[in-house]
Amino acid sequence: IIDIMHLNKSFGSHEVLRDINFSVKEGEVVCVIGSSGSGKSTLLRCINLLESPTGGKILYKGQDILDQEHNLNTYRTHLGMVFQQFNLFNNCDVLSNCMVGPIKVLKRSKEEAKEVAMKYLKVVGMDRYKNARPHQLSGGQKQRVAIARALSMQPDALLFDEPTSALDPEMVGEVLKVMKELANLGLTMIIVTHEMEFAREVSDRIVFMDQGVIVEDGKPEEVFNQPKNERTRAFLQRA
Ligand code: ATP
Ligand code: MG
Repeated sequence: IIDIMHLNKSFGSHEVLRDINFSVKEGEVVCVIGSSGSGKSTLLRCINLLESPTGGKILYKGQDILDQEHNLNTYRTHLGMVFQQFNLFNNCDVLSNCMVGPIKVLKRSKEEAKEVAMKYLKVVGMDRYKNARPHQLSGGQKQRVAIARALSMQPDALLFDEPTSALDPEMVGEVLKVMKELANLGLTMIIVTHEMEFAREVSDRIVFMDQGVIVEDGKPEEVFNQPKNERTRAFLQRA
């Protein structure tokens, strides 16, 4: 569903991503791991075009989305994004948070948007809190609402950037559990995470990045048990 070919990204003279090549198939769960500053967030931000790549191609269902002709706003609606800091609308209740995008961007009717939102709030176990405001929720609950909000746009793939890194340890599990359920439902996901056990359990593939380069891309058992690269080994030992 997504093919990244020879992707480069520089900030000024600083090359942050160098010749990135990888593909995500429909229904696949890919976890991206690597040390701080290796370019993981930049890679996700390039994939959903929050950053514009300096070179290379991104194919979405076979079409080059960096091509002038392509409608970037439509493309963006096909990808859901979940951030470390939730980014909920604090002055709206939980249900409205999940309805705004579908109404404003997808032009859904209120009734339709509500039905879809409630469906996904149930999936993440937050339907009982539909009238709560974000400030009344714990971090784990907020993140589950953020996931429901992303799902309410009915995206083709979900991108997660360290969704549990801002959470207190006791709340990490509930969010990972929801993500595991989504994986079992067959959602396509690209997940940047430091949760190695989770990555091993849930991924179809693990991508290890080091200094802007993908140095490993394989099945979890390959990457975790027989890493090809010395730097992967060093990273896994530390992690
Ligand atoms: P972390 O695990 O800490 O989140 P990361 O792997 O996500 O790290 P990135 O945030 O992608 O790493 O950053 C990769 C490099 O790009 C870093 O050296 C960072 O300083 C640089 N960088 C990221 N965004 C920008 C920006 N907007 N302008 C300039 N440099 C940037
Ligand atoms: Mg990051």
